Amino acid sequence: MALRKRSFDSLLIGAGGGGLRAALQLSQADLRVAVVSKVFPTRSHTVAAQGGVTAALANVLPDNWHWHMFDTVKGSDYLGDQDAIEYMCRAAPRVVYELEHFGVPFSRLDSGHIYQRAFGGQSRNFGGEQAARTCAAADRTGHAILHSLYQQNIQAKTHFFDEFFAIDLVLDGDGYCLGAVAIEIATGEPILIEAKTTIVATGGAGQLFRTNTNALVNTGDGMAMALRAGVPLQDMEFFQFHPTGIAGRGMLITEGVRGEGGYLLNSEGERFMERYAPNAKDLASRDVVSRAIATEVREGRGVGPERDHVLLKLDHLGSDIVKKRLPGIRETVMTFLHIDPAEAPIPVYPTAHYTMGGIPTNRYGQVVVPEQQGAEEPVPGLYAVGECACVSVHGANRLGGNSLLDILVFGRAAANHIIEHLRETRYHRPMPDGATDPAMQRLARWNQQGKGESVAGLRRQLGKIMEEHCGVFRNEEVLIEGQGKVRDLRERLKHAFIDDHSQIFNTARIEAMELENLMEIAMATITSALARQESRGAHSRIDYPERDDVHWLRHSLFSLDGDSMDYKPVRIKPLTVESFPPKKRTY
Ligand SMILES: Cc1cc2nc3c(=O)[nH]c(=O)nc-3n(C[C@H](O)[C@H](O)[C@H](O)COP(=O)(O)OP(=O)(O)OC[C@H]3O[C@@H](n4cnc5c(N)ncnc54)[C@H](O)[C@@H]3O)c2cc1C
Repeated sequence: MALRKRSFDSLLIGAGGGGLRAALQLSQADLRVAVVSKVFPTRSHTVAAQGGVTAALANVLPDNWHWHMFDTVKGSDYLGDQDAIEYMCRAAPRVVYELEHFGVPFSRLDSGHIYQRAFGGQSRNFGGEQAARTCAAADRTGHAILHSLYQQNIQAKTHFFDEFFAIDLVLDGDGYCLGAVAIEIATGEPILIEAKTTIVATGGAGQLFRTNTNALVNTGDGMAMALRAGVPLQDMEFFQFHPTGIAGRGMLITEGVRGEGGYLLNSEGERFMERYAPNAKDLASRDVVSRAIATEVREGRGVGPERDHVLLKLDHLGSDIVKKRLPGIRETVMTFLHIDPAEAPIPVYPTAHYTMGGIPTNRYGQVVVPEQQGAEEPVPGLYAVGECACVSVHGANRLGGNSLLDILVFGRAAANHIIEHLRETRYHRPMPDGATDPAMQRLARWNQQGKGESVAGLRRQLGKIMEEHCGVFRNEEVLIEGQGKVRDLRERLKHAFIDDHSQIFNTARIEAMELENLMEIAMATITSALARQESRGAHSRIDYPERDDVHWLRHSLFSLDGDSMDYKPVRIKPLTVESFPPKKRTY
């Protein structure tokens, strides 16, 4: 069967906030833009973002971008690249005002200005008093942003391939990216989407872990596609555990709850964060709060019959504030726990939330690979933005509110770079014979009939292994064992089969390919975690409890070729200001 083919100036894989912000910029520049998404665009995980997007607007308390930059560098445990961080923090007010013009209904102050709430890790004057920097549309900010961006894209005539699953990137012999092969989920028909530039915007890989806050579709597909295309993944050992997931279930309770004045209690009724972070208390950085909760539980001060969680108290805020500022949280808690958080505390425990690592890019969104003598080269035609990318602005730990900012700032920046690039690149490069073969072979693999282990069973095992062997606290022995188990599962997947070929909508085939992707990401995560012999940000090694800047102030790079590790320096030098040298990180 001849492969169906469509051609565009630019292809976006992913219709979350990152993909849609980039697509809008490109379509408004009159380029022919295709967006491929495995779910209907407004169901992308961005829709679930609750707390808000950070920008130093100074609407509630004094603020400026330089303080925001300091907090982000410190939050990253000094692993973030300071040029990219400066760029992001300076651009922040602009992208928020743009959103306002696109129609995002931000919560307002009585003065009419955009309301801003306090979030973890935010300070005034380089580490001083708490700042209030997060712009929110109640606790449904991502919903408001994604819907506004989608509507703007419809108006700008972006072409959507809804419910198409991208299988793999297509490259030529010179390493140029020429587009991607996808399948239409409803029919199973493959399609080649040829493009002069391709942006991967496929989001995070929270589904690696059994208990997580992520959408079911967050399986790290784009990161795995990059790995298979020969691009190493950066800083994969850094996975953020959000301190406040609903205990045992994982649904997110936004940091905005603590920003509005909520706080954590242990079984003794003690506000324990005062011991771990005397100044910031409950609004310390996420890695710090997650470790504190896990420690309280380990030391026997957990709550409940199993003593396996702590409590998040917000009833003292009054039901007016809870209803006005946190309506979605109230609804979630009432639906799943049958308690009203305006009256009783919420049981919480850390839950897998955010992939700090990803596809390495520069601040124009170009995917970069290592060259001779520490230099980097862009992969021609290939870009990555959003949670799947690693610019790196989050380093070893992301601050709340900085991811929505990241996807908007770098979605826009990548699109602007492409607009310039396409002024000189008028024609598609020729598609060599056989360029689509690897993608088509992956697809054919899951058409085979046979008897073996079930894909769904292997996926459940993977989530459990990652949770047990690569969680909030890690050590060498547990990681080595986990790595062995992941390697074993990866082999077993090669001999697994889909149970039911008669299934409509090809969902079983899609899930099998998603699991192949998750396996590669799991191997990247656990191998990078085993290699890094220090504790930094979200990566906490019991056997190496201190940060070690002499040996480990560097980014890791995991390649599929032999599951090998490599490293590259952190870009300490910002664009215009002095750098923030590494200091002891306390809150
Ligand atoms: C519950 C929750 C709350 C959050 N709250 C906040 C917050 O308040 N503030 C903040 O800054 N951050 C927050 N975050 C983080 C932030 O929302 C995400 O990091 C960000 O929205 C990711 O955007 P994205 O565009 O990179 O990807 P997503 O929004 O995840 O979109 C990924 C897209 O890729 C598509 N895709 C993936 N694989 C394929 C494939 N193989 N083929 C075709 N399409 C594919 C999907 O269909 C989807 O359209 C939150 C995250 C969660 C989970």
